[in-house]
Amino acid sequence: QKGEQPKVGTRSVGLMGGTFDPIHLAHLIVAEEVRYALNLNEMVFVPAGEPPHKMNRTTAPVKDRLAMVEMAVASNPHFSVSRVEVDRSGPSYLVDTLRLLKKQWGQETDLYFVIGWDSLEDFPTWYKPAEILEQLKRLVVVHRPGYQEDEAYNQQLETRLPGLLQKVCLVAAPQLDISSTNLRQRIVENRPIKYQVPAEVEAYIQSHHLYQHRTES
Ligand code: ATP
Ligand code: MG
Repeated sequence: QKGEQPKVGTRSVGLMGGTFDPIHLAHLIVAEEVRYALNLNEMVFVPAGEPPHKMNRTTAPVKDRLAMVEMAVASNPHFSVSRVEVDRSGPSYLVDTLRLLKKQWGQETDLYFVIGWDSLEDFPTWYKPAEILEQLKRLVVVHRPGYQEDEAYNQQLETRLPGLLQKVCLVAAPQLDISSTNLRQRIVENRPIKYQVPAEVEAYIQSHHLYQHRTES
């Protein structure tokens, strides 16, 4: 939906949700590209507290994931971090997060939630997906290496969650095959993560001895 101009005076905010365990360059590149393509005023990163779908494995402590996101976005004046999920105890559901953010920023705020193609495939299984869509101006989807768009699959998504494709806005961004899972694996195996995360994040991971022990198979 390029060329769709936000109404004057309406606050248009892009949201990048994630575990950010750790944050990496693909997250940052996608956020900047979406912000530019959709002419958004700002991009807010929302690190998950206890991610509902990742309860079965240990993540780095919230304070470390949050610290790494904060240092990663610091040099971009359009980027900021919301603590809305990390400050809540228990699992945080996106639908509640969106309601809280609208309460905080005003009901008329246009929210653009950004997800990679892998997350779009899961989206219909999220908690109250139809209500999530209601809260959003757009669900912004970006391609991710390894996850291919396919017409039959799109139709299946639409059957599982009517109205989904109507809300989706696909944005083309440079595709990088970087994932936090792969970065954690690399750290365990003593392989480099340099250039895949901001230098400050790499230094933080080293000085805090994060991800050095295997926690997943
Ligand atoms: P993990 O491997 O732990 O799941 P991740 O790299 O997928 O980590 P998340 O924190 O799960 O990172 O991702 C947050 C959001 O960023 C998700 O919507 C995900 O689809 C998107 N994303 C992550 N990496 C990429 C990438 N390389 N390209 C496009 N989108 C991405
Ligand atoms: Mg992921």
